[in-house]
Amino acid sequence: MSDAGRVGATIGVDIGGTQVHGVLLGGDGAVLAEARVPTPQPETDDVAVPDAAGHDVAEAVLAVVRELRAAGGAQPPRRVGIGAPGMVDREGILRFAPNLPGASGADLGGLVSEGIGDLLVDVENDANCAALAERRFGSLRDVEHGMMVTLGTGIGVGLVVGGRVEIGASGFAGEAGHMIVDPAGPPCPCGRRGCWERYASGGGLGRLAREAAYAGRLAHVVATVGGDPENVHGEDISTAALGGDEGALGVLDELGWWLALGLANLVTVVDPERIAIGGGLGEAGHLLLEPTRRAFGALIEGGPFRPPIEVVGAALGERAGAIGAGLMARADRSP
Ligand SMILES: [Zn+2]
Repeated sequence: MSDAGRVGATIGVDIGGTQVHGVLLGGDGAVLAEARVPTPQPETDDVAVPDAAGHDVAEAVLAVVRELRAAGGAQPPRRVGIGAPGMVDREGILRFAPNLPGASGADLGGLVSEGIGDLLVDVENDANCAALAERRFGSLRDVEHGMMVTLGTGIGVGLVVGGRVEIGASGFAGEAGHMIVDPAGPPCPCGRRGCWERYASGGGLGRLAREAAYAGRLAHVVATVGGDPENVHGEDISTAALGGDEGALGVLDELGWWLALGLANLVTVVDPERIAIGGGLGEAGHLLLEPTRRAFGALIEGGPFRPPIEVVGAALGERAGAIGAGLMARADRSP
């Protein structure tokens, strides 16, 4: 995947678990305007059954695209890139979307093209888009072999191999959130058990937090949410950790260990020089990087016998996916 053949301003849209976020991306890569709407929540949680969710998501994307085209002035951009969570094939079909139930099988590009004529729409995996953006403008700039790891509802991984984002034979490379790290672990929406993202994503943080709350290790945090451990969420841990709460910092240590475990596994495959961590953990991100680096150093194969691998924060924040989608839309794919 490359962004060769630049064609002026484009629109990039990132479909996240909670919001659909779009940017109007200038030819120089500057973000000229932003728009966001809530991600439609499906009526089913059966990921294998396609339903209206694909249409609902496409409508949300269209709302964002319309707003950004209006912001584009007299010559609204025609090129739109969409970053979608899950397995997006080389034709842009969202084949399987564990974290967007009901949308599996959706032709989002087709639906968006039907909604607004005269658009050129490309769809790509959201993490691959984020990797493209970080490679171009962010923490993976000039990196030949690297990984972009986005922690959100799940975990998205974009692999930079030989300076390019590697998408694999079918387009499905980097679906590493669904590496199984414990076959006896909690069920995953993908239909299996113990996937990495059950432990190390933003969603995984909530699960680890509730475990710690039930075990009595988060007394202060539980008190702040009204006394019921079930009400503890990832954001509560981030907030408490920023305030120095020992229990919350302990949960981030645990999250860091699980994150490092998956990274160490991926290192055996990719041999990266740098790993960028981004996504929705927000302001507590730096509190996660330290325990992650510590555990990573201990878990990595042959640590003393290889050059150091940097684990850094992503530079573009929550905009990475949308910026990357906008970059991807620049590629001239016309015959
Ligand atoms: Zn899974």
